[in-house]
Amino acid sequence: MRPTLTRLSKSLLPSLREAPKDAQLPSHALSIRAGLIRQVGAGLYELLPMGRKVLRHIETIVREELDAEGAQEILMPGVLPAEYLRESGRWESFGDVLCRFKDRKGADLALSPTHEEIVTDIARRELRSYRQLPVMLYQVQTKFRDEPRPRGGLLRGREFIMKDAYSFDVDEAAALQSYERMRKAYTRIFTRLGLDFRVVDADSGAMGGSRSAEFQILARSGEDKLVTCSACAYAANAEVATSGTAEASAAASATAATAATGPGSIPAMTRVATPGVTDMQSAIAALGEGHTLDNALKTLVVEHQGKPVALVLRGDHELNLVKLSTVLGAPVALASRERVQALVGANPGSIGPVNFPGRVIVDPQAAALAHTSCGANETDAHLVHVVYGRDYEGEITDIRMVEAGDPCPRCGASLSEHRGIEGGHIFVLGTHYSKKMSAHFTDENGEELPFVMGCYGIGMTRLIAAIIEQHHDAAGIRWPASVAPFDVVLVPISKRAESEEVVTALSESLREQGLSVLIDDRNERPGVKFKDAELFGIPLRVTLGDRGLEAGQAEVTERRSGETTAVALGDAAAHLKRMHLGLMQGLE
Ligand SMILES: [Zn+2]
Repeated sequence: MRPTLTRLSKSLLPSLREAPKDAQLPSHALSIRAGLIRQVGAGLYELLPMGRKVLRHIETIVREELDAEGAQEILMPGVLPAEYLRESGRWESFGDVLCRFKDRKGADLALSPTHEEIVTDIARRELRSYRQLPVMLYQVQTKFRDEPRPRGGLLRGREFIMKDAYSFDVDEAAALQSYERMRKAYTRIFTRLGLDFRVVDADSGAMGGSRSAEFQILARSGEDKLVTCSACAYAANAEVATSGTAEASAAASATAATAATGPGSIPAMTRVATPGVTDMQSAIAALGEGHTLDNALKTLVVEHQGKPVALVLRGDHELNLVKLSTVLGAPVALASRERVQALVGANPGSIGPVNFPGRVIVDPQAAALAHTSCGANETDAHLVHVVYGRDYEGEITDIRMVEAGDPCPRCGASLSEHRGIEGGHIFVLGTHYSKKMSAHFTDENGEELPFVMGCYGIGMTRLIAAIIEQHHDAAGIRWPASVAPFDVVLVPISKRAESEEVVTALSESLREQGLSVLIDDRNERPGVKFKDAELFGIPLRVTLGDRGLEAGQAEVTERRSGETTAVALGDAAAHLKRMHLGLMQGLE
């Protein structure tokens, strides 16, 4: 395909000096200012030509890498008959995220939020034998999810474009091989897109899979909290991350308890009045000198199977509800103040593990406190000189959020915290959908077995925003060469007669080198053209001015480094081709 040549004066490539007030994130503001997107409604955007070009380049990379793994592209409808979602139970369980409507005959339909049911139906109709497996199908298609809080432009829209892929295998071992192939393909895709990312262990949440990982793009504006190790490859979503302190401190707590039960070590537990205390901060203030958050117990209450469960943490630590749900085997939420009062008989500010009327789960870091304080399960009363193993006991289990500085669970080096944007997610789904929908194949012994499935998503439009989050400066976007809407922007600023001829000749030579070119032929001041070239973020800029034309030279500026060099006009196209190759090689 011949690379494009676009004249700015005759194009829909609008630039804006200011972004709308609600565009707080750099990617949101810049994608509006550089004319990539415009808002149509809440969480609904149109892609203008600049945005569409970037998406097309992302799509090309994704297709190349998936096709290389033997995946086959299909296209499923954006409107789904309810019967498929009823088979899996998701017609109900999707809740308000699913946009439901009726057609003229009164049949229930939904806008597709994802396609597991439809693709499972393809497999049960079209695949019969183990000899046909593995099969990997994918599509690049529009999804709609009625998110309560769409935000950040393309980062979390209600309608968005997704690449979703699905694998069908004979058994779990084969499904894991498909999963590993996709993991490698995703790693190549995200590398070629110029993204700084981490592959993190994730909670498979509502999908119910046996193995999953997220491809998290590091960005300050990310919604997800991650911890990563500086020394090894360990990376995890803070929702599920463990820390090396878990085992170490469980041992320490046992030691502390033993020491405490020895004669004369720690004074006997004592009750103190703490009138008006409602939370940890006010409890610490009421207990006075020597009491701090990191040597006090924080006790939270959840209701599980109609009974109260106490969750004991060090005062400065945060509860991890995902870990807790795994421990209890069901999703739980903290009990309201009224519920705590009803279940325990005390105000939530005065709850503690000593004589708690129910199950007690203790984080190892809390149990390790040699000498601590806690609520007395009696409103306006606390206990001091409290020792684990002497005054209270419980199930010691890691239920806290990991923090920066905690030791890595694999190698012990210090963990650091990042925020991330989820760019991709891969799952082994198992037989969840194939069993529910009776999607079977015949194995070599003639036995009917459910397909073992995997599913793999990439938020395509979200990636546009994520790339900008990582690749911008105060002046605008700095596209990685692999996805840039144009390779070169030509900026003629000379009024000399030969200028037009030189521009035409150079742009043709650049196209012959396989480079796409944007010519800023607008009747604007040089300063305006330079500002827009930086805002658009095209990797290479060629400036043709009076002095240069006189000397037979062009000025070449690299957007990323800002470096400018003078190049003889006759060599300019070859020179730019070499620079472009260099930029592309940096993305391999
Ligand atoms: Zn490590």
